[in-house]
Amino acid sequence: MKLNYLLAPFYALSALTSNASEPHLDKVLGQSYVCSDTAVIRSENLTLQEQKSTCSKLSEIESIFHGVFNTKGKPVENDHNLSIRVNVYASRDSFVKNAKQHFNMPTDNGGMYLEGLPDKEHNQAEFVTYQREVNNRKVIWNLEHEYVHYLDGRFNLYGDFCASLHDSHSPPENCAKPAPLLPHTVWWTEGVAEYIAWGKQNSRALQAINKSKVPFKLSELFDTSYEHNGGSERVYSWGYFAVRYMMEEEREKVEQMLLFLRRGDYPRYQALVRHWGISMDEDFRRWLQVTTES
Ligand SMILES: [Zn+2]
Repeated sequence: MKLNYLLAPFYALSALTSNASEPHLDKVLGQSYVCSDTAVIRSENLTLQEQKSTCSKLSEIESIFHGVFNTKGKPVENDHNLSIRVNVYASRDSFVKNAKQHFNMPTDNGGMYLEGLPDKEHNQAEFVTYQREVNNRKVIWNLEHEYVHYLDGRFNLYGDFCASLHDSHSPPENCAKPAPLLPHTVWWTEGVAEYIAWGKQNSRALQAINKSKVPFKLSELFDTSYEHNGGSERVYSWGYFAVRYMMEEEREKVEQMLLFLRRGDYPRYQALVRHWGISMDEDFRRWLQVTTES
């Protein structure tokens, strides 16, 4: 998968992989900062101020997420991912050099969420990212997006990465082949990460949509995945608008869908999405026109 921007919520079996490389990992990601009961930052070179402001951003996203989904702090059944460890390399170079060894993950991407096996007690959810300069300012790349994957995985999606619906078979999870039949859940997982991270101000998605020659229908977007029906514009920018439309215009349908996703009843999720069919395509097209003009 050659996305240079965001990447899928891949999940490392970190308990299996980190032992051999732990000393080296500890040396590179030598600093640890406890934000709260739910988040710890391990970093190579963040200043104290940067660690504090990162904690604030995470806490802001967390409260937006819980508010939007009215979770009441109740995770899905059998999820023991009580907290997330955020791993921040000092640069893309350091990320590319180290993350494969430290987390058994590919590095041709903009960072990854590694859910591990949430049904196992003492499982440690991680996300792995790096600092980079954007407009002469150092930022942690995709911080908010990856954090939403953690929250979505804990409060909206039952089971681990391989339990949800997609066609990625890459390490570290190497999910079984063949991929499940369509529709998959990628439009939701990536779209909601973008939607909560950016709210109504997603200029990157807006630009991508405006450049698209042939607009996607909503019914096509439900079939988005990674290896097929993918590409970063479709996955992230179109995913953002698909989720935003559903959240703002079809919230009841979203709630019905989440009932199935939270229980891990993926067959009924697929039946529901197929039942929606093309019924919202025309309204989505009109909404998108208005939304992307204003
Ligand atoms: Zn993602």
